Amino acid sequence: MSSIRCSDTPDAAQMSDAEPKAIREIRINPIVPSESVLVATARSMRPRKAEDPALRDTRKHVDTCPFCTGNEHMTPPTIASYPDEENWQARIVENLYPVLGDDRQTGNLVFGLQQAIEGYGRHEVIIDHRQHGIALHEMSEEHLVLLFGAYQERMQQLYANDARIRYVLVFKNFGPAAGASIAHTHSQIIAMPVIPENVYNEVTHSRNYYQKQHHCIFCSLIDEALTFEATIYDRSSGHVRRRISVGQYVVERGERFIAIKPFASRYEWEVHIRPLVHQSDFLNITAEDRADFARVLHRTMARLDAVIGGAQYNFFLHSKPRGEEFADCDARYHWHLEICPRTSIPTGFELGSGLFVSTTSPEDAAERLRAVDLDTPQE
Ligand SMILES: [Zn+2]
Ligand SMILES: [Zn+2]
Ligand SMILES: [Zn+2]
Repeated sequence: MSSIRCSDTPDAAQMSDAEPKAIREIRINPIVPSESVLVATARSMRPRKAEDPALRDTRKHVDTCPFCTGNEHMTPPTIASYPDEENWQARIVENLYPVLGDDRQTGNLVFGLQQAIEGYGRHEVIIDHRQHGIALHEMSEEHLVLLFGAYQERMQQLYANDARIRYVLVFKNFGPAAGASIAHTHSQIIAMPVIPENVYNEVTHSRNYYQKQHHCIFCSLIDEALTFEATIYDRSSGHVRRRISVGQYVVERGERFIAIKPFASRYEWEVHIRPLVHQSDFLNITAEDRADFARVLHRTMARLDAVIGGAQYNFFLHSKPRGEEFADCDARYHWHLEICPRTSIPTGFELGSGLFVSTTSPEDAAERLRAVDLDTPQE
């Protein structure tokens, strides 16, 4: 454990524990420094709330839903079923409206400064569960093991089937506030010929950090979350400016995974799940990893749901990309799942500046999530 003090710490007598109530500061993302967040807990900067977000559909079965059981003929062809076709608990199908599709051999286009890469790739839908409107925390841990096993297997196949695929992105939109157009719980897989910018930036910066520190930045951040404490005093008044305590950003901890509230969170309730022991590629996870991951995810989603009330969110998997130039990433990059609950709508300020505004401090958010009692049985 370490503790730091401002070098000009005044006399103890002058010190006060009074910490400022409202925070207004721009926080730099430690992994991707070009991304920053304005944490402004005073009301004036509040982004527009998604007032009365459309309620999510909680029905168990809907006769007209193409993803519900009995309607399998209504979807495009099945690519894979888990555990088997007859008793499927999760099912992968082609996307009816793919954003990327099969090769049309038209090639890439370059005209002047404009470039267009052929929109080649695969876009598939995973029907996450038989039950129409079930939320993630209502699924069993065994089911989450099966679901993430399905992601893993399909990602493996997509990479193996085509050497041009550079990245396979798995993501989920849950609820109308998160852009889900079909109410039945589902996630999506997009195999693409380019590396998404967010992943590319994370890889580039974690590589730079490794060059200087000979350590993975994600591992360093986990170490910090689990061991670091500090009190920072104001140079002239001697008042406490900030107190960082051990575990302040930890939302949930398993044997192999940890759920962390990032210091510079773009979304107020954003939480990231990372392996505790360094691992660059989601495709390398073992059965034991999946079991602990499912438990940490399940508990994290239950916490989010308890605090936000019917969480609508996006989640996405960030893992090591394919390609020779990423061969060195095994030691440098660290796979993770980012969960971004959608409780407000970005405004012109956010879209125009790229600066996300958070009106709840990540420290308060983490504390509220941790305070949810999941272990006392409900009456
Ligand atoms: Zn359905
Ligand atoms: Zn690491
Ligand atoms: Zn990421």
